[in-house]
Amino acid sequence: MKITQIHCQILRIPRVEAKTASSQDSVLVRVRTDNGLEGVGEADSSPEMVKAVIDAPFSHNIATGLRGLLLGENPLETDRLWDLMYRRTMYCGRRSVTLTAMAALDMAFWDLKGKHFKEPLHRLLGGRRHARIRAYASILFGRDGGHTAEIGRRWREAGYTAVKFGWEPMGRDEATDLDLVRGARRGVGDEGTVLIDAGCVWDARTALQRAHAFADQRIGWLEEPLHPDDYEGYRWLRDRSPVPIAAGEEECGRQSFRPLIDGRCLDVYQVDLSRNGFTDSLYIRQRVEEIGARLCNHCYTSPVSHAAGLHWLATCRDTFLFEDCVEDSPLRHELTHEKIQANGGWMEVPDRPGLGVTLDEDFVGTHLVSESV
Ligand SMILES: [Mg+2]
Repeated sequence: MKITQIHCQILRIPRVEAKTASSQDSVLVRVRTDNGLEGVGEADSSPEMVKAVIDAPFSHNIATGLRGLLLGENPLETDRLWDLMYRRTMYCGRRSVTLTAMAALDMAFWDLKGKHFKEPLHRLLGGRRHARIRAYASILFGRDGGHTAEIGRRWREAGYTAVKFGWEPMGRDEATDLDLVRGARRGVGDEGTVLIDAGCVWDARTALQRAHAFADQRIGWLEEPLHPDDYEGYRWLRDRSPVPIAAGEEECGRQSFRPLIDGRCLDVYQVDLSRNGFTDSLYIRQRVEEIGARLCNHCYTSPVSHAAGLHWLATCRDTFLFEDCVEDSPLRHELTHEKIQANGGWMEVPDRPGLGVTLDEDFVGTHLVSESV
């Protein structure tokens, strides 16, 4: 089997708001082969930047666009192709957007692998340990505690037993932060799980004070309290915090995760398949399980990435929660014919070959803003 075409499509909803939500646009990477198969991948990054990394022409041996490197290769050889992409982009890669473009391609290669062998990805990733996973509704904070409580009630009524609230306006001042978390607890009720995603807003000492204050509201974890580069801060905080510390969504690739894992910096490592691909997510799974920490998916884009996260998380030993983005964006819910969403607060793991999703071409057509020629 040989790769004959790598086609990028950028989709966007008509009105993009200034908020920290990546379900407003998407870059799909569609890899076609000489035996008529197509694998689909997605990156969570700036879609136009990802497309540029794939489209770019050859510059020199360690600065090259990814399409030119991959045409004619066998997509089943995922480890070798990951190394090839990493080495041949060292001048423009190693982290960040180049890694996310590699992740989208790798996701498409694995989708092809599943279709080629007619097996669901969870089987090819080592075997499913969980047929269904408890979901948490993942959404942004309201404008204040009262509005956040309303949002919490909405998702509890929809059947979720856990809700995560994130980002703005957390971090404005202590009173705002406490008001938001108390609102979250009121909305979710005594029996539900409340998860708090701070959005990288504090220094370690302030984060520790907040962790103690939020512990009174029995939060399940405190996510991304610090700047992602503050590895030492995370290690210091995790040693002292009364609540579990979660992070990882900013990281792209194994080299980016390695200092967090080696330093035992986190309780919960959050891995985004659309930023790490399956190939590096398998390395991260193994390393995190080795140190006895926990894994969760990160996902805030389309059903393609949600399906990828679901296959991977189903193979992790100590899986306890799945991030289910409940943003109202049609890109989150309508891009594929299959609905990759919780039912009664639980996610069922797809069992069809590959990722187990098929794109709704009418939806793609009406949301397409640009594509590779
Ligand atoms: Mg987050």
